[in-house]
Amino acid sequence: MRLARRMNRLGTETAFEVLARARALEAEGREIVHLEIGEPDFSTPQNITAAAIDALHAGQTHYTPSVGIPELREAVAQEIRRTRGIPAEAENVVIVPGGKPIIYFTVMALVESGDEVIYPNPGFPIYESMINLVQAKPVPVPLLEENDFCFDLPALKKAINKRTTLIILNSPQNPTGGVLCKRDLEEIAELAIDYDCYILSDEIYSRILYDTEFASIASLPGLWERTIILDGFSKTYAMTGWRMGYGVMPSDLVPAFGRLATNSVSCTAAFTQWAGVEGLCGSQEEVDKMVARFRERRDVMVEGLNAIPGVSCRTPSGAFYAFPNIKSFDRSAQEIADYLLQEAGVAVLPGTSFGSYGEGYLRLSYANSVENIEKALIRMHEALEKL
Ligand code: PLP
Repeated sequence: MRLARRMNRLGTETAFEVLARARALEAEGREIVHLEIGEPDFSTPQNITAAAIDALHAGQTHYTPSVGIPELREAVAQEIRRTRGIPAEAENVVIVPGGKPIIYFTVMALVESGDEVIYPNPGFPIYESMINLVQAKPVPVPLLEENDFCFDLPALKKAINKRTTLIILNSPQNPTGGVLCKRDLEEIAELAIDYDCYILSDEIYSRILYDTEFASIASLPGLWERTIILDGFSKTYAMTGWRMGYGVMPSDLVPAFGRLATNSVSCTAAFTQWAGVEGLCGSQEEVDKMVARFRERRDVMVEGLNAIPGVSCRTPSGAFYAFPNIKSFDRSAQEIADYLLQEAGVAVLPGTSFGSYGEGYLRLSYANSVENIEKALIRMHEALEKL
């Protein structure tokens, strides 16, 4: 087959590849603990599922406007006003199938080939993939363990220049579980204004926070006018398979995002959008319960990892990932991840799946039962002691 050359520039997400390898071992009869995939293991709250079923029965089975139904756009705007304190209206909101299309649409709409785009390393691999797709220059800024995985501000200052069109931020972060603090956000905001850049603020884990209040860069003075907020339903409401997310942005960008939706997905499924209205406007009790459960699991995971000789792990403040340091084993993160899958039957991701600054780390998702986490920790402990 002769694929178009642009396909060579398109990356992927290793989590799905590791999942496939783990499934192949399971097919051979091995028992694997899955800590590789980043999705809540809980069911979608009942009230949301019921709203989708009601919407299906009510005939919500047709196309909707490309940017989403007005009711959900308004519900999202309300949520953003409440949680970020910015004057978002329905006209600022675009509903899409999952958070990912907002990354794609932002880069397509705002970045020319040859422009420079700053993004976190380690970071969600789709950022770099999209930047490469449009033939822009990916400019990674390290997130360092010694800074609690905050942006390396001196590196950012060095990296930014007049060709920088877009800065991509993610907080709480995948894969480190780190959170960008207010002071960092303020410095990044100042640079974005000085260099007249847009910001894509990936806030998909905004509700999964343990120790701090959520802070969005869009809430800072002068930033709402240049920020595209990405958030959605996948992580907050355990709805990864529903495919629903949104972007909140200056209203003059909305027609471009709508056109990209029209040209690709047409719209997000109608009945899922009605379920989304229930998600945002209905009881939030289930979300609070899920976050409480994630906190318990985080504590089990971090304590267990730190008890393994040669492993050290900071306590993540958000998302559902631990990012332990495994440098003392003197092997690559890929080697250690392969070893743990084969030897211990524990599927994890090498930190390098998220960029070169992930070398020396593993990413473990603790969106799994305490029982499975404990089992994985025992097996990892035994396997790593043999190295
Ligand atoms: N952004 C980050 C940082 C993520 O970790 C993910 C999913 O893992 C997404 C965006 C995409 O979310 P969705 O499944 O809603 O497309």
